[in-house]
Parts: sequence; C-alpha cells; structure tokens
Amino acid sequence: MKAPRTGFSGTQVTEKKKGVIIMARFTLPRDLYYGKGSLEVLKTLKGKKAIVVVGGGSMKRFGFLDKVTSYLQEAGMEVELFENVEPDPSVETVMRGAEAMRKFEPDWIVAMGGGSPIDAAKAMWAFYEYPDTTFEDLITPFNFPELRQKAKFLAIPSTSGTATEVTAFSVITDYSTGVKYPLADFNITPDIAVVDPELATTMPAKLTAHTGMDALTHAIEAYVSTLHSPFTDPLALQAIEMVLDYLPASYNGNMEAREQMHYAQCLAGMAFSNALLGIVHSMAHKTGAAFSTGHIPHGCANAIYLPYVIQYNAKDKEAKSRYAEIARRMGLDGTSEQALVNALCDKIRDFNVRLNIPKTLQEFGIVEEEFKEKVGKIAELAVGDACTGSNPRSITPAEMEKLLTCTYYGTEVDF
Ligand code: FE
Repeated sequence: MKAPRTGFSGTQVTEKKKGVIIMARFTLPRDLYYGKGSLEVLKTLKGKKAIVVVGGGSMKRFGFLDKVTSYLQEAGMEVELFENVEPDPSVETVMRGAEAMRKFEPDWIVAMGGGSPIDAAKAMWAFYEYPDTTFEDLITPFNFPELRQKAKFLAIPSTSGTATEVTAFSVITDYSTGVKYPLADFNITPDIAVVDPELATTMPAKLTAHTGMDALTHAIEAYVSTLHSPFTDPLALQAIEMVLDYLPASYNGNMEAREQMHYAQCLAGMAFSNALLGIVHSMAHKTGAAFSTGHIPHGCANAIYLPYVIQYNAKDKEAKSRYAEIARRMGLDGTSEQALVNALCDKIRDFNVRLNIPKTLQEFGIVEEEFKEKVGKIAELAVGDACTGSNPRSITPAEMEKLLTCTYYGTEVDF
C-alpha cells in the first residue's frame, strides 16, 4: 500500500494565509453538456442579456456563431457580440471586452472558439465585475475576488486540447513588455461547458495533432503531479487511454474518433485543473516564442519534450511507479518499472512519428547557434515557471539546461 498523501502546496497556500482551514479542493463546472448538437442547450439558458466572445472568424464561417446567437435569442435573451479575439489574447483586448461588458451589462458571458477567446473572456469577466482590479492583483494564484456578482460564464470549445472550458486557468499576454500573465483561480472555472464535437470537426489535421498531444501531456503531467489526488487520477487515466485509442484516427480525419478526442481532452482538463501540471509545460511556455525561426506551437513543444521529461522524472521513485502504472493500464509490456517507463516513452515517440511531429528541437528547425546562445536563460525561466512547482522531481537551472539540450539533439537523459 502506498503512503497516503499529506500536505498541500500551491493552491492551498493562499487559503492558509487568510486564516481559513486548509483543505484540498476539487472544482469543475456545475454542468457539462456534451454530444453532437448539444449546442442547442443554449435555447434553455435563463437570463436577460448574453455577450458572445469569439475569435477570428472560423466559428462565423462554419455557421456556429449564427447558431449560438439564434439559440440565445430563442431563450429570450438580448445578444451582443465581441468578435476578433486574437490568438494569445492581449491585455488591450481584455480591457476592450470588459468595457463592452460594462456598457452592455450581460448576465451571461458565452465564450466560444479555441483556447484564446475563452481565456480572454475569463479575464474580461474579472475586469467587468471589478473595474478597479489590476493584472498585478490577479496574477497571484488563487487570489481572485468573488466572481458571479454580475454574470455567469458558459464556454464552448472548438479545439480539442486546452480544455479551458473546464479549467481554472487563462493566459493573457502584455505585448508592451512581452510578459505572459498566467491567471489561476477556481472563480474562473466556467459555470457551464458545452462540449459539442461538431465544432471540433472544423480543425485542420496539424492542429488536431498538436492539440491532441497537448491533451495527452495534460493527463500524464496531472497523473504524476505532486498535487494528484483520488479525484484527479481516474480522469487522467481515462483521458490517456482515450487519446491513445483515438488520436491517430482523429488526425487522419475520422470524425467519430474526433468526437472521442473532444471528450478526452475535456477529461484531461478536469484532471489538470485540479492537479496542476509539470515541467513539460514549463519548458513549452518558455521556448514557445524564444527563437527567431518562429513560434513553436504549444502542443508540438509538449509532444517533443514529453518523453525526455518522463525519463528525467522517472529517476524519482514514486514518479517512476506512476509512469509504470500508466504503461500497465495502457497494456504495454515490461518486466520492470523501468522497462514499462521505456515502453511508455516509445509509445509517445511512435505517436509523434505518426502525427508528423519532430523528435527534437533541431529537427523542428531551431538554429544550433541560437539555441546554444539562449538555452541558459531559457532554462532559468523554465525553472521559475508556475508549472514547475507541482513537477514530481525537482530541477535546478543547470539540470534544466542539460534536459533542454537533450531535447535539442535527441540524446539520452541520464542524470
Ligand atoms: Fe497545455
């Protein structure tokens, strides 16, 4: 029998400071509607005014924005649109959205699209209800003011990866300083998530591959996180199993598999929203926009780093057992825990090949000179990332530099 988990970190620290009894918390949306056509639930929403926050145009082009508008009107609501939220939404967009909300005074915020419009709408919501708050106030994890004073929040994802429709997270970028504000608070966990697979049928193959590997990374990192719990473990395992079963077919255009992936990423989101993540995400966050050769898509970066990080983390005894459990549950063969960990890494590498994801940063196209020049600084930043705290094995900047170097050349992680 394993030792029960005691002590908490991260999410619970703030509550302790406020003099509240320390307790672990598990939070999800109040309602989750899923299945083809579940979007129609909007017809039954109770309220007076809804603002719809949406991205650059694909939801409009495919007719989903019209559907959302007419369903809300059918529910008797006045509807206003806030369109053109950009990828990696900016502080300015958030402020404009909050201003639009203060003028219109919606009692429902309906956010639809990839991660970006939903993330942006979460931040708009805070500034709508608390106009005097600042990003500096909000970036302290789990320190939001009490939301739902003016509006409730419904999220409709169109990609199968970030799971922001069920998570307590949002990322906003300040382009004037280049700083990304990771916002984390259960107040911004949506009230309702509508997981309608018809929206995900619009994803191109490459986006399907990248977002799918992001979901797999969420589930694996949540399963081995220091904050994993009996509530998050089954969600993570189910998500891993479903991604392994359905991602290649979804990538190849099978829409039944695409539907299952839409649910799998949501399950992974439920797990990591409550168990947090690990250094695969720390590395992806800090390398995503670091090189002059272009952006590394988030899910692609995760997919490249995942097998290397598993080898690094598996030097920790408990983490090794948990990776081995994943491998066993997936039906992989191995006579020792290390053999099972290796089989899990081989499986991920095989997936990357099938999904046309490069094995290394070098193969991705990062220039060697630039990598060498920047890796020290990136390693430092990655260690300081919010996701490092719940990683199962600690890491120093020097070790992080070595690990990143392994992911550049494809060399073995032997430290
Ligand atoms: Fe992610």
